[in-house]
Amino acid sequence: MNHIAHWIDGAETAGASGRTAPVFNPATGEQIAEVDLASTAEVGEAVKKAKEAGRAWREASLSKRSAVLFKFRELLASRTGELAAIVTREHGKVLADAAGEVARGLENVEFATGIPHLMKGSFSEQAATGVDVYSIRQPLGVVAGITPFNFPAMVPLWMCATAIASGNAFVLKPSEKDPSAALWLARLWKEAGLPDGVFTVLNGDKEAVDALLTHPDIAAVSFVGSTPIAKYIYETGTAHGKRVQALGGAKNHMIVLPDAELDAAADAAISAGYGAAGERCMAISVVVAVGDIADPLVEAIAARLPKIRIGDGTDPASEMGPLISAQHRDKVAGYIEAGAAEGATVVADGRSGDLPEDGFFLGATLLDDVTPQMTVYTDEIFGPVLSVVRVDSYAEAVQLVNDNEYGNGTAIFTRDGGAARQFQFDVNAGMVGVNVPIPVPVAYYSFGGWKASLFGDTHMYGPDGIHFFTRSKVVTSRWPDPGTSAIDLGFPQTR
Ligand code: NAD
Repeated sequence: MNHIAHWIDGAETAGASGRTAPVFNPATGEQIAEVDLASTAEVGEAVKKAKEAGRAWREASLSKRSAVLFKFRELLASRTGELAAIVTREHGKVLADAAGEVARGLENVEFATGIPHLMKGSFSEQAATGVDVYSIRQPLGVVAGITPFNFPAMVPLWMCATAIASGNAFVLKPSEKDPSAALWLARLWKEAGLPDGVFTVLNGDKEAVDALLTHPDIAAVSFVGSTPIAKYIYETGTAHGKRVQALGGAKNHMIVLPDAELDAAADAAISAGYGAAGERCMAISVVVAVGDIADPLVEAIAARLPKIRIGDGTDPASEMGPLISAQHRDKVAGYIEAGAAEGATVVADGRSGDLPEDGFFLGATLLDDVTPQMTVYTDEIFGPVLSVVRVDSYAEAVQLVNDNEYGNGTAIFTRDGGAARQFQFDVNAGMVGVNVPIPVPVAYYSFGGWKASLFGDTHMYGPDGIHFFTRSKVVTSRWPDPGTSAIDLGFPQTR
């Protein structure tokens, strides 16, 4: 049995808590490893090492830090396949999708190579006579990242690239369901020349998370996961004086207007609804069909479903892999039952059909005539279940999106530029696609939702990431001519 340990002070470190969790290959259903779960004491030890390393790393020049980032970028780009294989083995998504995840993470590393430019402050000469004012940004110290199972490479890269480039020590607590990608990244950072202790991996569950959230030396926590946990992380972390950004779950709507290009909309619904078996926070889970397009759209989506090739992600022919666990597969299947009981029309039922015998597979499911009261609509299902809600007008469609608890991503499909522009103005969501179903922003913008999809105020990467992992200091400076120095007890004025 493969044993997955921690990564502390630049080396693999076996856990001492005596607690472990099983790691499965979801495509076969076999347990392939066990991962150590860190205790509060182990978290304390690791943070101590990270703090020491962070002090020295903060002093490394911007060009030295940038050089490490460039080297890390080269290694990651040349070994994408290796990391993608690890992701597929423990998460289940198909290899091409896993490589796509790595590529989107790599973008964040590329962004962070520009750290000398990104850390620039501003300077105002002669703010008052003989007085200059300037701002600088400084790292926070030791910062933590807590990440979900569904992007075991990309989400840690969203965080660690900017956190490390801006001079912090970064402690990662990856998902215990697929922890190996994090350790692979740790080895790569070392190979890229990152000093020991600047990147730490602590595997664990609630105990390790709570230890990080309450540790006095953790200055900030960046979290991605489900909404109830995100809320808990935000409340607990901020109550302990930390800066927190906590990204939560989603229910992403794709509005299809009557003038949309039908085939393109159906293709997009399939790709965004069933890619990664629906286990993406930016997956489309609700198609909102406006007016007459509903019948042909449902027909076009249904016609495409039997062509989706479901299988082991390591098989290049597979397009959709399994779900992360047997329990999650069963929970998602339960929603199909619930949808039918609540009055939805089951156009395609993923529980039936030709599925691989072993592993945590579920087929693509399409539910029509879904209403906002049904649990398949209100809950984040996080599986290959696409719901269609039929409405009569654009106004009703936007209202539906805006009334929803979540506000991560959304998309509109139309040929009408005016309607698309109105949508971008009206809609309450953090990321909007116009004929783009999964509008994950490029690394030099930022990623983040609204409403219950994000707790905190900064988004995840790009300039917001630099902002989150640094704090600003403003210096007011005078170099007086000793001949003109005088005592003045009045309040300083800018003259
Ligand atoms: P999760 O909330 O169960 O777990 C996320 C992290 O929190 C893991 O590291 C886990 O170990 C930890 N955790 C779990 N329960 C905890 C508890 N009770 N106390 C403290 N820590 C705990 O999420 P998941 O199932 O791994 O990931 C799927 C969820 O993440 C979905 O809801 C999805 O929408 C969301 N997600 C959101 C985004 C985004 O950017 N908004 C991106 C990816 C995933």
